[in-house]
Amino acid sequence: MTTDKAKLEIPKDLLPSDGRFGSGPSMVPKASLENLLAEAEKYMGNSHRKTNVKSLVARLQNGCKELFNLPTDWEILLGNGGTTFLWDAFTFGAIKEQSQHLCFGEFSKRFADAVANTPHLDNPDIIESELGTCPVPVTNENVDFYAFTQNETSTGVAAEIIRPDNTDALVGVDATSAAGAMNWSADQADIYYFSLQKSFAADGGLWVACCSKPALKRFEELHNARWCPVALNLHLAHENSLKQQILNTPAIATIYLAVQYVERVLENGGLSWAVNRSKAASDYLYDWAEKSDWANPFVKEEKERSPITATIILDNKIQSNDVIEIFEQNGIVDVNPYRKLNYNLLRFGLFPSRDVEDVEALCACLDFVASNL
Ligand SMILES: *Cc1c(COP(=O)(O)O)cnc(C)c1O
Repeated sequence: MTTDKAKLEIPKDLLPSDGRFGSGPSMVPKASLENLLAEAEKYMGNSHRKTNVKSLVARLQNGCKELFNLPTDWEILLGNGGTTFLWDAFTFGAIKEQSQHLCFGEFSKRFADAVANTPHLDNPDIIESELGTCPVPVTNENVDFYAFTQNETSTGVAAEIIRPDNTDALVGVDATSAAGAMNWSADQADIYYFSLQKSFAADGGLWVACCSKPALKRFEELHNARWCPVALNLHLAHENSLKQQILNTPAIATIYLAVQYVERVLENGGLSWAVNRSKAASDYLYDWAEKSDWANPFVKEEKERSPITATIILDNKIQSNDVIEIFEQNGIVDVNPYRKLNYNLLRFGLFPSRDVEDVEALCACLDFVASNL
């Protein structure tokens, strides 16, 4: 790229109102941050074992139960460390002997790797598919834990969550980016888990797991059967969650911001409102890409295209690195593809906090950059 092009200025009236298009951490709405600042003294610097913070945890737990329409015997567990940490907890407290993993990108593969490296578990049963597509589970009677990923954030592939036939194994769903933006049904899963820095528009560091009765039973059974580091112990996380607590000190601002998200969605009518917002945003972007003569949706199968982390593949005449560089100089940030994917891609986080008008502006900016490169 020549230096002139590197200095390309996008006209101000084309720019989106907020340029944070990252797939995680995602855009935190200004309103959430302003509310946090206004109420900060009630929560920040307060003990997480006392009423103010515990009431915040309760709002997040109850909000999730309502948002996902969970049966009354489900519990919402929280812990420090995010999803990656929870995968390690599963190797101690959720998988008895063998798990099955649908691997179709970086995140789904990382969980499978964590299990493969666990000395006390059998080698995982891995079902892989080409990047940009989604594999389907195959019932295996040795498997006691099926690992799904609802949205493979690295490739922008969305999966359907359907419990495999003829099994009483647990179904664990990595919904790290999907939770709060995609539909699912509690009768198809046992553990639906996520972090709060994606659709929930909060910050990193905490994991949340919505757990069915059989899942909670499994945690207790393995707690009694197998040694486990305290910080990874899911049964202890369950005991703490019943008291609106977390084993060790959590990031209180993260919880506050997540409560802002869940309550905003509920005030607007619930999960379908959030799902429709992301769908409208991503439909606009995919339509734009299909009409464009230099870009296409990376995921070929329409129903597998992520409504929240949209990946767009570019013709060789336009290099994604050039677009990323120009965008960054103009305040449109974090549209890089997942760092380990070697494709000429752009990726856009289109979580429900995003207004569709911003996506229209984004597409206008893409056209402007392409016509000036
Ligand atoms: C971001 C992401 C993770 C990792 O989450 P951390 O909170 O950073 O550990 C795992 N799975 C999926 C699908 C993700 O999008």
